[in-house]
This record gives sequence, structure tokens and C-alpha cells, in this order.
Amino acid sequence: MAKLSIKDLDLHSKRVFIRVDFNVPIKDGKVDDDSRITAALPTIQYAIEQQARVILASHLGRPKGQRVEKYSLHPVAEHLAELLKRPVAFADDCIGEAAQSKVNSLADGDVLLLENLRFHPEEEKNDDEFAKQLASLCDVYVNDAFGTAHRAHASTAGITRHVSQAAAGMLMEKELEYLGKAIEDPEHPFVAILGGAKVSDKIPVINALIDRGVNQLLIGGAMAYTFLKAEGFTVGKSLVEDSMLQTALEIKKRAEEKGIELLLPTDHQVVDSYEPVKGEKIVTKTIPIEFTNIGLVGMDIGVETVGYFATALQDARLIIWNGPMGVFEEPPFDQGTIGVAKAVAEAADRGATVIVGGGDSVSAVTRAGVADRITHISTGGGATLEFLSGDELPGVVALSDK
Ligand code: AMP
Repeated sequence: MAKLSIKDLDLHSKRVFIRVDFNVPIKDGKVDDDSRITAALPTIQYAIEQQARVILASHLGRPKGQRVEKYSLHPVAEHLAELLKRPVAFADDCIGEAAQSKVNSLADGDVLLLENLRFHPEEEKNDDEFAKQLASLCDVYVNDAFGTAHRAHASTAGITRHVSQAAAGMLMEKELEYLGKAIEDPEHPFVAILGGAKVSDKIPVINALIDRGVNQLLIGGAMAYTFLKAEGFTVGKSLVEDSMLQTALEIKKRAEEKGIELLLPTDHQVVDSYEPVKGEKIVTKTIPIEFTNIGLVGMDIGVETVGYFATALQDARLIIWNGPMGVFEEPPFDQGTIGVAKAVAEAADRGATVIVGGGDSVSAVTRAGVADRITHISTGGGATLEFLSGDELPGVVALSDK
């Protein structure tokens, strides 16, 4: 059912509580990467234009229900003020007198950011009393934090029980539109690229993709080693989930029965052990997957695999990518992921709809300088995967129906 949109609300002079995802990296008291903040700007700017009294709330990091200064959102308020070119007030707490007095001093079109929601353990517990206190700050509620919509927390779910209207923000709407279309009415050929560490995390999404008629599944990252080992390849000391070998074979069988191609790397970059990565000099070599590997560690897909995957994308109309192709955090093992980023951008140039989600894949498209060519960069990691798996997200379900 379609959900109420911020555009359906009368915001004029209203206290509008907007749940945003400002969970950004902070370095030396400054915002290190503001992409999540800029992603929320259209909604914030719209609310300002409508002369709303804008109250922003977010979590940052994992303070585990306590006030931890390094997780304060204060630097975000300063950064947001620069982006909006207007003052952003800051409340030292997200509930109580500190929050209430700041809300009371808001004039139409003013913006306030509340302190980290997760400084209170009640947030993640979806505590009803806490949700009620948050709701008491506002007249209407908007959720623009797609990245946390898969969690039923007080600020994403509970609060909606205490407000008359709960609507989706513009970023949330955009996510639901692109991801919704991808799972309900995918264009073919439909190719999914999955990477990252664990097969176990991705089983629901792999099964959903198979059910929804994906045409090709390209698997890289450490995940691939579980599939390769299950098929009888030697993987040396590469990261494998031994408990998932049987599952990997079952997935392969299901895919084959449906005529879906499951593509695994044909070559990879290896090192003698994980240790040299931390040292000065990294000696890497690229070897075919079929070479007997007794003790080497596979760190990234090789150049041949990048080409192989790029060829598979040649005629694709829809591409979904989640998860890095290697140990992306440790150059030169980012090369496979960057190669795939360039290949999906080229597919987008040819007219394919390209959806990229998950922190590492998103930073790969940014690092490769191709972010502006991607059709939709999803701000969710877990939320994107859960949505694509066909699960209902608590933060979306809780919004008012149109
Ligand atoms: P995920 O959270 O499942 O998307 O996994 C992301 C993590 O997978 C990143 O931290 C990567 O370093 C890791 N990863 C990807 N490929 C490999 C690999 N070949 N060996 C070990 N870790 C990997």
C-alpha cells in the first residue's frame, strides 16, 4: 500500500520531526564524509521552504545507550549549517527539557538537530514511553532514514503510534520507488552482483533474486570462496564459511534449475598471509582460480574476472550490486571492486538501470569517480538487502497509508 509522503502534508508552522540518517564518520571533531547528510537535504530544504519548524533526529555510531562524547551529533549540526547556509540549532538531548525548550524557540523555517537518539537505551528497545516523549516534540512525523528502516526502534517505529500523521521523506520515497520497481517489475536481462564477506548474510537476498527471475548472479569477495570450495576448488587460507558449503551447493542447484547463470571469479589476487597487509610492502600475485592453492589467501578478484563480469553486464537492463569484490579497505585489493564500479557505470551509460547499495560498493563508485553515472545509490546496507529480499521494513510499515 502506498505510504503518505511529506508532500501530502501541510507543514506550514508545524513542528515536523524528521528522522534522518546522519550516521556519518567523524574525524577530529569534523564530518569526514557527508554523503548521508547531503542525501537528506532535499527533504530538509523542502520542509524549510514550506515554513515548517524542522526538528531533525538521528543516531550516530554505537554508544550503547550511554552519553559518549565522540558520538555526539554536534559536529553534524555545524556541518549541516554550512550546507544549508543557515543556522542549525542544537539540543543537548533528544528528549526532556533540553529538547523541549529548543523546540519552543523555533520560528517557522528554523532547523534544530537533536542529540544522538542512541544515548538512550530506550531508542533501540523501541520503548513506548520514550517514543511518546519524542512524539511530544512534534505535530507531524517524517521518516527519511531508509538506512535504519529495517530496525523497529522508538524513532523509526514506536513514535508513529503517538503522532497523527507519519509520512515518508523524499529520500525514503526514492529508495522505495527504485528498489520496489526492481523487485516487483524487473527489466531483463537482470544481473545481480554480490560480494562481501559472508554467504550466510546474503542467503535471503540470493533466494529472493532467484525467485524474482534474476538472469545472472555474479559472485565475488570472500563469499565466492565458499562457493568455489563447495565445487571442489582449492582455496588455501582464503576466508570460507565451512558451515555454508552445503547451502552454497543448494543455491547453485536452484539457480541451475531455473536457468540462472551463477558466475564465480576465474582469477584472483593472492598473498602469502594476511599479515603482510599490515606491513610496509605487500607482495601480491594474480593466479587462476583453478591453480592448486594450498596456503595462499585470496584478497580480491583478478583483472580477468573484472573483464568476465563486465562482459556479463554487456546487455543488462537492470543491475543490482551489493558488497565488495575483495578486501576493499586495503589497497591494492580495492582494484577488483573499482573495476566493477567502472563496469556498472558503463552499463548505466548504455541505458541499464543500476542500483548500488552497501557501504563498500557505494564508496567504490565514489572512489572510481562514477557515482554520478549510477541510476540509484542506495543509502541502506542491511535495509537495502532486507527490502530486496522481500521483507517488510518496520520503519516503512509504520508510516501512515495514503
Ligand atoms: P559484507 O559486510 O558482508 O558486505 O562484507 C564486507 C567485507 O568483506 C569487507 O570488510 C571486505 O574486506 C570483506 N572481504 C571481501 N572480500 C574478501 C576476501 N577475499 N577476504 C576477506 N575479506 C573479504
